[in-house]
Amino acid sequence: MPRRGHRTGPPGCPPELRHYEQRLAIRLSASKLTRAHRMLARADSAVAAHLQRRVREPARFAAFVAGHSSYASDTPCQRCGSSARTVYCASCHACQVRRRPLQLTSTGKVAAWPPALRSRAGWLAVCDERRRERSGECDSRTFGPFTATTTPTGKLSISAPALGISVPDMGALPFDHINHLCRLYPEVLDVLRFAGWL
Ligand SMILES: [Zn+2]
Repeated sequence: MPRRGHRTGPPGCPPELRHYEQRLAIRLSASKLTRAHRMLARADSAVAAHLQRRVREPARFAAFVAGHSSYASDTPCQRCGSSARTVYCASCHACQVRRRPLQLTSTGKVAAWPPALRSRAGWLAVCDERRRERSGECDSRTFGPFTATTTPTGKLSISAPALGISVPDMGALPFDHINHLCRLYPEVLDVLRFAGWL
């Protein structure tokens, strides 16, 4: 019984190619395409035809034959939306690079740092926002019964003692609740506009 996520396709390695698997200690499947696979595919057209049947996306196989490390996939990444995938295992290229731990040399020094997620100026701006928030800086305004307070990092809290409403962090509120509040009290729309949410 095939399980979800398991592919049912052509059978595994044919018997006449099995000696490659034993000699090179590799699997002739689409799950991992390495340099050894490419050298085999270039030397033996039967291996190339077998791998072409196993690889789902033609673009991945074309990039594999051409010796590229990534290709444009037809399925965007569920995590970041990028469509560049690695030829090696068809995982998202950007997510793979971001998740990679520090690369060390044999002496334990850092050989490559992970790519920066922010520019230096962007990081300094974030630090400045956090410092201003710690020092208690905030911006308050009143809209009808509501008092809205925003902090430098963008946190929004509203309170309306007369209505018995107090929301310390609007960002933590589910969208449906915010939508409901907006329909009950039109002033909440002004609050959101004040906070730059609309
Ligand atoms: Zn991704």
